[in-house]
Parts: sequence; C-alpha cells; structure tokens
Amino acid sequence: MNKFYITTSIAYVNAPPHIGFALESLQADVLARSQRQLGNEAFFLTGTDEHGAKIARAAAAAGKTPKRLVDENAERFRELKTALNLSWDNFIRTSDSRVHWPVAQELWSRLTASGDLYRKSYKGLYCVGHEAFVTEKDLENGICRDHKKAPEVIEEENWFFKLSKYTKEIELRIRNDELRIVPESRKNEILSFLAEGLEDVSFSRPSKDLSWGIPVPGDDTQTMYVWADALSNYISGYGGIKKWEEYPADVHLIGKDILRFHAAIWPGMLLSAKLLLPKSIYVHGHILVGGEKMSKTVGNVVDPFGLVQKYGTEAVRYFLLREIPSTDDGDFTYEKFEERYNGDLANGLGNFAARVLTLAERDAKLQISSKSTNVDNDVDRKIKETKESVALKIEEFKLHEALEALWGLIHFGDRYVNEKKPWAKGSAESDRRRAVYNALVILDNVAALLLPFLPETAGKISNSISWSGNNLSVKKIEALFPRID
Ligand SMILES: [Zn+2]
Repeated sequence: MNKFYITTSIAYVNAPPHIGFALESLQADVLARSQRQLGNEAFFLTGTDEHGAKIARAAAAAGKTPKRLVDENAERFRELKTALNLSWDNFIRTSDSRVHWPVAQELWSRLTASGDLYRKSYKGLYCVGHEAFVTEKDLENGICRDHKKAPEVIEEENWFFKLSKYTKEIELRIRNDELRIVPESRKNEILSFLAEGLEDVSFSRPSKDLSWGIPVPGDDTQTMYVWADALSNYISGYGGIKKWEEYPADVHLIGKDILRFHAAIWPGMLLSAKLLLPKSIYVHGHILVGGEKMSKTVGNVVDPFGLVQKYGTEAVRYFLLREIPSTDDGDFTYEKFEERYNGDLANGLGNFAARVLTLAERDAKLQISSKSTNVDNDVDRKIKETKESVALKIEEFKLHEALEALWGLIHFGDRYVNEKKPWAKGSAESDRRRAVYNALVILDNVAALLLPFLPETAGKISNSISWSGNNLSVKKIEALFPRID
C-alpha cells in the first residue's frame, strides 16, 4: 500500500469560509478519495491560520478575546466537513499551543542552528490591511490601493531569515521537478520570480505590537510573524518532524495568490532546517462571481453553506469541480449553477441511472447472469477508454476534464440504450437481456468513476446494483437529482 499525503492551505479565520476555500477543499478531497479508491493510504490535512494583528484587532473591535474569536470562526471552517462531505483526516489550528507551537518553535530553532536568522532594524511603510510592509508600488497618492488607507511608517527590530541564500537551490529543485509545480504556467511564473533572486524575509514582530502569536524561542521580545507560524502546520498537523522526514507531503494544494510563499519561502525554510521538501504544489485559480472578484464591499461573496442548503452537497461538489477549471479562474453565477444542475445532473446522470435501473428492474426475468451474457466490444472499449482518461486527468490535476470524460461515458450509455431499445416489442429475449446487462455495466462503471467526485451519489447507484456470484439484481432508486424549475 502506497502512502499519499495531501494538504489544503490553511484558511485565515478573519472571515467566514467562502466558495474559494470550498473549492480548494473539494479538489483536495477528490485527490484523497481517488488515492483511497486505488487502495492507497491517504492522509488529508486542512485547518486554520489564526494569529496576527488583523485577528487581534477584529477581536478587540468585537469586544472578544482573540481566542474566543478564533474558536468561533474556526468552527465554521470545521463545519465544511459535513456540509461538503469532506474526507479530511486532521484539522490543524495554529493557535493550538499543545500540538502546533512546539513544531513551529522547533523549526525556528533549526533555522537558528543553521545560522539563517539574524536581527535587523527595519524601517518601512506598514499597511494594517496587508498586515505587511508595502512599497510605493502598492500605493496611490500615498494610500494603499487595496485597503484605501495610508500606511504607517514603522521602524522596528525583526528577526530576518536568509532566504536569499537558498535561491539557487530552490530554483534547481523546481526546474528539475523534484519540487513539481502544477500547472506548467505557474512553474514558469515562479522560475522567473526566482531568476531575480530572493530577498531575505522578516520572520518576527516585536511582542509589544503583536502578542497574539507564537513566541520566538529564546527571545521573549519577539513574536513569530506568519511564515514559521503558519507554514509549519504542514508538519505539526501531520504528526511532527519525524513523520515528515519519513514521508513529506505529496501535494500542497494552494491558490495562485500564495504561490510565492509555498514555492519560495517554505522550501527555503525546509532547506535551512535540513528537512525534505514536499513533492509537489498544485495551484488553483480564483472563483469570480458574474465575472467580478468576490468582495465584502461589493457584497457578492457566495456562502458555501447557503449553497448547500439550497441545492444539496452533491450538486455543489459537482458544480465547483466541473465548472471551475482546476488550475484557472472560473465563474460562478446562479444561472450557470442551475444550467449545470438541470443539464448534467438531472437530465444527464440522474436520467440515465433512472432509465437503466427501471429497465433492469421492470422484468423479473431480467435477473441477469453474466455467464450467459457478455459485454459488447464497443461498450468494453468505451469503458476502458474512459477509465484511462479519467485517471490521467486526475493525475494531471484537471478535475473538470476528468468529469467531462466521465460524462462522455454517460452520453455513450444513453445513446446505447436509445439504439438497442430493449423495451421494444418483438425483440428477442436474449437481445433484451444483453442490452440491459450492457447498460448496467456502463452505469456500474459510471458509479465507480464518480466515487471520488460525488461519493454519496456513487454509493446510491452502486448499492442499487448487487452481484451475488454471477447473478445480478437491481433495485430502483428515488430520483437522484430532481429538476429545478
Ligand atoms: Zn494594504
């Protein structure tokens, strides 16, 4: 049995979950489930990023302690598990001082031991919204373009990490795919970023300004700033450094906006700590809503819980995985959602399943023995072709294309039933049996291929078809996806 370790990024808990994080979670879920279906031992990690000045400020504004605020918000992210039927194995929270902090601190100590952390006075323009120092490029008339606020001039002592030292090594590992970046366009993007050379990075903040975070080991005047604090979750949530060294992550699944952190800072930290690198980083795009960026100000943020309540878990899983290209931006609208629902789920999959199961169940004489009937050549070929194509697309992280290939098999099945007309009067009993048997084999394979994507639907279909030795029996099921009018 092979192992497979996959992570999502950890979500910042200053806002409730939106469909972008839902999509990332679902993509990781499909990859984990498909590995388990292959018989591999998959470990799927997700969690929340809970420190920083933004959280401390939001808590103060709400009259809560930071702890209380993150406890409440983290719970919303945890609830995605039920809402979206996610199969994650662990949910790590960076405020967990028992499980997470010791690993973040050990990692810090390893960077110190390598001589890669140094103190430096830093003066710069700090934007509260960015939670980072900004440069003139980020400003318009002295005001932050994104946050519409003037940055503060801050001079402070920080610990800096010698990331510059690792530029060449990181570049090499990415170029030769030891650290594989998927898709290729993102690999090229990070390689041209690395070609300019990496700058050292501020790794801490004075504790007097930032107390909501992990204390820097051996320096109580400083608190860790995001990198060592957050990125180390991939090790702490997995069981610690020893486990990581036995088997580091196969895939970090992330959004395109955090590529540099994962493909530059994180490998730099691991190299400095003399630890293994993850094997690959898969980068997804963003979800637009009606062609626009989701934003609280515009008021177009789509709530995944509301969506599930309205359309059901399986429909939400299908839409996000099918409509949004895995590695590119995609668009959400309710019209598109309902089009996909009625077209692909109600008329496509749902209708095909109902047709085949009704035909098979209608006539008790159609209890089929596979000894007397075989699968038609063209049916057999189409199933094999689809299996190969779906496996390849999952491997290439083109989940939307895997579903497209799978729906090709459903359409093939529909055409097959239309041509054979096993309901027609006058057709020979043996022909009828054979046609219905073939249609059932198609449906059974559709269910198996569907399992990582729509586990509940796949289960319903599989459970309605049961084999006992060579005998096949079938029971009808309720409509899988009733049409939306
Ligand atoms: Zn800003």
